Amino acid sequence: MSTPRVRVLMYHGVDRVSAARDPHGMFVTPRAFRDQVEHLLEAGYVPIDEATYLAAGAGTGTGAGAGTPLPRRAVLLTFDDGYVGVGEHAAPVLASFGVPSVLYVPAGLVGGSSDWLPARHRHPLMGASELREVAADGMAIGAHGFDHADLTTLGAADLHRHVGAARTELERVVGRPVRSYAFPYGTHDARVRAAVRAAGYDGAFAVHDAAGPFATGRVDVNATDTLRSFRIKLHRHYPRARRATERFPLLRRAAHDLVGRAPREELSAPEATGGGR
Ligand SMILES: [Zn+2]
Repeated sequence: MSTPRVRVLMYHGVDRVSAARDPHGMFVTPRAFRDQVEHLLEAGYVPIDEATYLAAGAGTGTGAGAGTPLPRRAVLLTFDDGYVGVGEHAAPVLASFGVPSVLYVPAGLVGGSSDWLPARHRHPLMGASELREVAADGMAIGAHGFDHADLTTLGAADLHRHVGAARTELERVVGRPVRSYAFPYGTHDARVRAAVRAAGYDGAFAVHDAAGPFATGRVDVNATDTLRSFRIKLHRHYPRARRATERFPLLRRAAHDLVGRAPREELSAPEATGGGR
C-alpha cells in the first residue's frame, strides 16, 4: 500500500466576478464550486479538517506521516485571503455537505479589502462577525500574514508582526485557536519558515515550492478550471506533472488545450461589489 498523500486544494474567492475585475482568475463561480464539492464526495474523496490534517503530520507526502493515519483519498480544502464571497457562497455549501475547510486571513485586513492588489482588482474581505460565523460552521481560521506582505522581504520586527502578532490578533477576533499559516504569494525561505514554527504554528502552506511541513504545497483551483481540469488536479501525480510542464511551457499550453478552460464571465457592472470597503 502506498503512503497516503493528502491532496490540499487552494482556493481564493468564490463569487461571480468579471474577468476585468479578476485578471488572475482567483474567483471560482458559486456554481463551479458546488460542482467541485459534489464531485469530491461522489468520487470518494474524504475531506478532512485542519485538526486531522495536523495530527497526521502528513503535509509533505515525503513519508513524514508519523501521526494518525489518514484515509487514502483524504483532501483538505483551503481558502486564502478571506473574501466575502467565500462566506456567502462557499461556506453554506460546505456546511450543507458537512465538509470542513481552512480559511487563511491577513490579520490586519479583517473587514477591509484586498488592497495589496491594484485598486480595480480589489475585493472586500470578511469582517470579525463573518469570520466567527464561518468558523462556527466548520471553517478553521488560519493566518495569512498581517497585510499580505511578502514575508521574505521583511526585517525581524515586521516578520514578528506578520507571524506571531498576526496569530494573537486573529485568535482575539475569532475566539478560537489559530494553528496553521499560509504564506502570502506562497513565498517563503528558511528564515520565514523558522519564524512560523517558532511562533507556535503547527504547520504552514506554500503553493508550488513545497519544503516540508512548514511549506506544504497546494494545488491551485481557479476560475479557468473546468470539472475535467479539476479532476486532473486531484490526481496524486498532478503536482509533479505541473512542475514538469513549468519547465516546458509548450507542453503546458498543450495540456490546457487538451482539458479546456472555463469561459470567464463578462459581467457588465464593473464596480458592483465595490472595492474600497
Ligand atoms: Zn493571499
